[in-house]
Amino acid sequence: MTKDTKDRKPGNWRPQTMMVRGGTTRSEHGETSEALFLNSGFVYDSPEEQSARMAGEKAGYIYSRYANPTVRMLEERLCLLEGAEDCRATASGMAAIHTMLVAPVKPGDRIVAPRALFSSCIWILKNVMPKMGVEVTWVDGSDPKEWERALSKPCRFVLIETPSNPMLDAVDIRMVADLTHAAGGELIVDNVFASPILQRPLELGADWVVYSTTKHMDGQGRTLGGAILGKAKAIEDNIQQYYRHTGPSMSPFNAWIVLKGLETMDLRVRAMSANARKIADRLAGNPKITAVRYPGRSDHPHHNIHAAQMPEAGGSMVAFSLKGGREAAFGMLNKLGLVDISNNLGDAKSLITHPATTTHRTLTDEERAAIGLDDTWVRLSVGLEDPEDIVEDIERAL
Ligand SMILES: *Cc1c(COP(=O)(O)O)cnc(C)c1O
Repeated sequence: MTKDTKDRKPGNWRPQTMMVRGGTTRSEHGETSEALFLNSGFVYDSPEEQSARMAGEKAGYIYSRYANPTVRMLEERLCLLEGAEDCRATASGMAAIHTMLVAPVKPGDRIVAPRALFSSCIWILKNVMPKMGVEVTWVDGSDPKEWERALSKPCRFVLIETPSNPMLDAVDIRMVADLTHAAGGELIVDNVFASPILQRPLELGADWVVYSTTKHMDGQGRTLGGAILGKAKAIEDNIQQYYRHTGPSMSPFNAWIVLKGLETMDLRVRAMSANARKIADRLAGNPKITAVRYPGRSDHPHHNIHAAQMPEAGGSMVAFSLKGGREAAFGMLNKLGLVDISNNLGDAKSLITHPATTTHRTLTDEERAAIGLDDTWVRLSVGLEDPEDIVEDIERAL
């Protein structure tokens, strides 16, 4: 390792430059691209050196479950992008959220969360947290009164997702951050749908940001991964030991792919958002479609909050509701020739899913009703194809 970007004042770089260069360290060979350190262990010159490193008295790599040079480059680049002090990359988005929720809590703690969350997050809150003696309070994320009531007594964490999956609801990050802090808690934002290009939760008062790097950061459907970002001391005190000893670590190979993905993420997310906007506007005028939800459109029920938090663009996700319910939705999905049926998102390829029977299948009817999701809705992740081809494909299928 010779040049560290820390010597090159990355703080002065603009985001796009950081996404191409931030966090890069070069080996003695001076390679152009980030090196892939696909190794599990590290060797030492002496037992003294090994013992000092393992005691934490000397800096240096020990074992890739703890840290790895390629994974570290990704973690540092993500810190620069997000404006965070430190980061731990994980094997998947759910490994990040699981570690984030489980590592710091103790029996008697309370977590508050909106009902509109990624379904695996709901599963953890419903099935894992009670086993640890942690109480969970559910709220309607768009109702300030429910937030005020839920946060009028102490809480350890609030976990939110905005825009939410699949209805693209908005949660007011600043308002919830203030209420969370007044209740003595910390706010975690799952920022996957917006990506760091369009929304910056730490600047809006959040304490932690979690990602699935599987989505826009990889962006080409290759790897699973995740990340936890926050204050250095908070990670040291709450996350570090759990991460080292339980092993949710990201593979160096996946970290290398995501590093390369970040180089083009700004271009991809902006192009996908522009495509999504065009498609949402076209679908809104289609007589077979009863409603379109897109954060950037003024007819979205939470448009004002989205516009304040994601001022530049509405993101790459569109939800729409079909006349004729599930039968019509399945009929349309079966007739698509270009857009693929898939529950993934943030990919260069446009992907579509019927949430009520797939990603949100495990929710009860009441839980689905509480987030406004029924059989009529489909969720489209808009990719990088020509938007005219995507619209034509959907119109033909309708
Ligand atoms: C995909 C996703 C996750 C989980 O990430 P994985 O990488 O699939 O484990 C969590 N939250 C949101 C909002 C997601 O879209």
